Amino acid sequence: MEPIVLFARNPSPMTGPGNNTYLVDSRGTAALVDAGIGEAGHLADLAAALLDRHARLDSVLVTHGHRDHAGGAPAIAAAHPSAAFRKLPWPVEDGQYDVTWQPIVDGEIVTVGDEELTALHTPGHSPDHLAFWHEASRAVFTGDLVVRGSSVMIHWSRGGDLAQYLASLERLLALEPRLLYPAHGTVIDDPRAILTHYLAHRRFREQQVLNALRAGQATVEAIAESIYDGLAPALMPAARENVRAHLEKLRTDGAATHDDNRWTAS
Ligand SMILES: [Zn+2]
Repeated sequence: MEPIVLFARNPSPMTGPGNNTYLVDSRGTAALVDAGIGEAGHLADLAAALLDRHARLDSVLVTHGHRDHAGGAPAIAAAHPSAAFRKLPWPVEDGQYDVTWQPIVDGEIVTVGDEELTALHTPGHSPDHLAFWHEASRAVFTGDLVVRGSSVMIHWSRGGDLAQYLASLERLLALEPRLLYPAHGTVIDDPRAILTHYLAHRRFREQQVLNALRAGQATVEAIAESIYDGLAPALMPAARENVRAHLEKLRTDGAATHDDNRWTAS
């Protein structure tokens, strides 16, 4: 399997250079992993790639319901009436996209011609997050689990969960993949190195949050300022979400308490 990268053409402070979507085709049928946001250039690239491969778009497999991954679904549906739109349900978010979603469950095998992709429920970045495992080439479409050279934001107030995220990284690691196809950034050909680095980085961040608590910093804002000193202001809200996710994990682990909007180490 050699997926074709189609850029969603949506650069921004939050998406970096923008999202990658991936076209997988086999025997005249094709699946697109992630939908982008419906940019005209993305739709044109998709149409050209399908023409080039003599393939019909049969399914769009959405890794999760965030706008940069799911927002383009209605535009793709209009251009490709044959396509089924599939994701793991997230009822409070899915309805904002005007397509009929067909649910995928953990472990389900999606076939694209001769190719088989196994859906893996990998929550943490979002509750509905799926990765797609192509065992034959030991490759995984990883959505927003991994971005080379950056870390993944865990939006606690939008259903992010750090403990689940770490478990999802461990699940990927256990597959012993050879390649990761992320939704942001370049293809990753050293999955073990990056996944173990991510796990270590989160342990380091957790220690930083714990140290800030022990130093008497008691609010998400104060802790975020101390840890993310010098971060671009546009990214600060996301940094605060990350800190909150760490604090919630520490609370679950019994290492922190939360009263009257003040956090303390316990
Ligand atoms: Zn996302």
